[in-house]
Amino acid sequence: LKKQKVLYVLGAGYSGSTLLGLSLGTLKDVVNLGEVASLENDYRPPALCTCSKSLQKCEFWSGLKKQLEKNQKNLPTQQQWNLLNEATRQEIDKKGGGLRKFLAVLGVPLRWLMGSTAELDYLKKNESFFNQAFHFTQAAILVDLSKTPERLNILRQSAAFELYCVYLKRNPREVFASNLKRPKKSRAHFGFKVWREAFWYGLRNISYNRLFKQLPEEQKTVMHWEDFTREPVQSLNQLAKFMGLKEGVKADNLMIDPRLQHVYSGNLWLHRERHTAIKIETQKSNRSLKVREFKILKSILTILGLGKELSKY
Ligand SMILES: [Zn+2]
Repeated sequence: LKKQKVLYVLGAGYSGSTLLGLSLGTLKDVVNLGEVASLENDYRPPALCTCSKSLQKCEFWSGLKKQLEKNQKNLPTQQQWNLLNEATRQEIDKKGGGLRKFLAVLGVPLRWLMGSTAELDYLKKNESFFNQAFHFTQAAILVDLSKTPERLNILRQSAAFELYCVYLKRNPREVFASNLKRPKKSRAHFGFKVWREAFWYGLRNISYNRLFKQLPEEQKTVMHWEDFTREPVQSLNQLAKFMGLKEGVKADNLMIDPRLQHVYSGNLWLHRERHTAIKIETQKSNRSLKVREFKILKSILTILGLGKELSKY
C-alpha cells in the first residue's frame, strides 16, 4: 500500500499561501484543507466555507466533523479533534509573541518548552485528524497551509503519512509591508514597531530556513511566489511531479473556482471578495514600504545574515 502524503506549506504570513493552496486543490487526488492548525479555532458555524455554504450546511465539513466525532471517541481527550464553537488554538499554534514562542523561534526544542507528553499528544491528535481526513476525502494528498516550522517539526515525526514540504518565498518588501499594515497586538507593548517587526520577521525567516535544511532532499522544494504568478501552470506541474502525481494541470490558463473547494481557515479575503473564478497572474504590487521602513528592514536582515534574501528582488 502506498503511503498517503501530506503537503505542508511553510513560509511567512502574506506569502500567498491561500492562492497556492487553492491552486493545488484543483489537482486530481489533492484536497486542500487550508490552515489545519487553525481549523479548531476558526470553526464558527455561521462562518462561510469557500463552497459558499455555512459550515453547518457544507457537506464536506459537517461530514468530516461527524466522522471525527464517531471515530475519535476512544482517544484520550487531548488527542481528539474538536470542531466546536468554543474550541481554541493549541499552545504550539498560538499566534503572536510570548516568551515560549520566542524561544521556539530561536531554536529551543519544543519538548523542552511544552514537555514531551504535550508534543506526543499534538502528533497523535494530528495523525488521527489526517487519517480521518484521508478516509473521508479519499485523497492521495492533503494540503496543510499552516506555515509554521514548529508545527512542521512535529508533523515530520509521523510514521502515519509521508510529509512533503513546499517552502513558499516571496519578496520580503511585500511581505513586510503587509505585515506592517496589521496591528500586532501581542507584541505592541514592546514599542518601536518597525524595528521590532523587522527583527521578528528576520528571526522567523531564520527559523524557517533552519528547519527546512533538516528535511530530506526528496521531500522538500522551494517555490517563489513571483515564479508561481508568472508561470502558474508550469509551477504547479512541477509541484505535481514533485509529489508523484501522474496528472498535472492540463489547461494553459489556470482558473480556480473556490466554490469547488472547502476552505474556511486562514486568509479571509476569499469570503470578502466572493470570487467566482480566480485567474493567477502577476499583479502590480499595491503594497510598498516607505524609504525609512525599507532601510530598517535591510539593516536588520543584513545583521541577521539574511541580506541576500532581499537582494534577489
Ligand atoms: Zn464547504
